[in-house]
Amino acid sequence: MVVLKKNGLADKPEMKTGRRVKSLRLELEKRSLDGLLLTDIKNIRHLTGFTGSAAFALITMDSAWFLTDSRYTAQARQEVKGFRFRIYKKALDAIVELVKVQRLKSLGFEGNNLSYDNYLKFKKALGAVRLRSVPEIPAGLRLRKDSAEIARIKASAAILDAGYLKAMEVIRDGTIEKDAALQIEMAFREAGADGLAFDTILASGPRGALPHGRASDKPVRKGELVVVDMGVAKDGYNSDETRTLCVGKAGREEKKIYQIVKDAQGRAIDLIRPGVRAVAVDKAARGCIEGAGYGRYFGHGTGHGVGLDVHEGPNIGPTSTDVLDEGMVLTVEPGIYIPGWGGVRIEDMVLVVKDGFEVLTGTTKDLVCL
Ligand code: ZN
Ligand code: ZN
Repeated sequence: MVVLKKNGLADKPEMKTGRRVKSLRLELEKRSLDGLLLTDIKNIRHLTGFTGSAAFALITMDSAWFLTDSRYTAQARQEVKGFRFRIYKKALDAIVELVKVQRLKSLGFEGNNLSYDNYLKFKKALGAVRLRSVPEIPAGLRLRKDSAEIARIKASAAILDAGYLKAMEVIRDGTIEKDAALQIEMAFREAGADGLAFDTILASGPRGALPHGRASDKPVRKGELVVVDMGVAKDGYNSDETRTLCVGKAGREEKKIYQIVKDAQGRAIDLIRPGVRAVAVDKAARGCIEGAGYGRYFGHGTGHGVGLDVHEGPNIGPTSTDVLDEGMVLTVEPGIYIPGWGGVRIEDMVLVVKDGFEVLTGTTKDLVCL
């Protein structure tokens, strides 16, 4: 459950670029498109292996172009294989020229990434070229992770243990939320994180009812539940995990609601295997919480994919059309948020494997009382 991303950059080139370009061309063929312009830097990284921050990629049925500016020439030559290079001064001019020289009649682009202003500029400069937004093509290529990606995601997830151990060490009656978050974030760095996947969420007592409650100046108080949502980036890949702790002895209500969320999360995870619809996973968690009478306090989706972005496909929510498949990495994170009282969320990252699932986040899910 995050918005901000601060991804670190890897120094190693990605693998299997060729296979991804082939898959992308199949998708272009299905849609009768002559080419695809990629502007999203994560999608460009996934396709080309480039870990810098300024680039474009233009894929046609018989050519694959990588475009960047002079700051990244040396890095790109090292990281990007199997692409033709174009070093630009003005990106738009270089892209338009390539599209015209190759006589493309139609061009796909990422409508969820290209700004409206730039879209208008392209439209004007490209004249008769048919433009069509197809963000589902690059997003689809990223749904199933290959073995190199899974290894990186596992390494990213393993770092979270250090942060959670630190949370258990520093959270006490009187601890300021922000101070605890800083300690947790330092523990991540010490454990090898390149950076944070998002600002650590640490919300105690009534603040726990805010699903995105970032650490504040509020002191944690005895008897309060504390929602801790953590994520790091490692070699470009993100991780995401939430635990809810109790300071001092947990009250009856706290124990009861914790158990409902824990059961809901367990049931949803147990369903995970290739071929299962994402809505079924959401329904398992939601049904459990609704059955206990807390349905109106669970307002968000049950989970999301994690990879180069901390939020990506598949979507595990009530309106999702996604179907789980081997190699997908997703979170399962039901919660109950009661205004004025507080909240409980439990979140794990789960890898879909051939005959079921593998949980990638390892820390205990018993209610820890500090
Ligand atoms: Zn999270
Ligand atoms: Zn999440």
